[in-house]
Amino acid sequence: MTGEKTIFKKIIDQEIPAEIIYEDELCLAFKDVNPQAPTHVLVIPKREIPSMAHLKSEDQELVGHLILTVGEVAKILGLENGYRMIVNTGTEGGQTVDHLHLHLLGGRAMSWPPG
Ligand code: C5P
Repeated sequence: MTGEKTIFKKIIDQEIPAEIIYEDELCLAFKDVNPQAPTHVLVIPKREIPSMAHLKSEDQELVGHLILTVGEVAKILGLENGYRMIVNTGTEGGQTVDHLHLHLLGGRAMSWPPG
């Protein structure tokens, strides 16, 4: 990390706007600005963790909370036919923002394998 705020930290700090779907003391869920499916939401921890590769064993409860939140947001948004959760990690994983985020994609049939 460079010490500069990531775009997601700026969203957490309300320095830039986002369409927030859900928020609690640990995490925030907001609509992706460049949606790859009819529903595309990002769930992020409020604590700054650069990526999944930076998680520690003491983050177990937080990670469980983030995953359960993806499921809750899917319910809120009516994705009863299913959805996909993705966590891009590192350069080869396609991660572009260095703040851990869980993608929730839904509203269309997904293909496999992903690109
Ligand atoms: O997994 P990855 O790091 O590539 O995902 C970053 C995501 O953050 C992208 O889907 C991008 O559209 C989204 N984004 C956003 N709002 C921003 C900047 C990026 O929703 N201001």
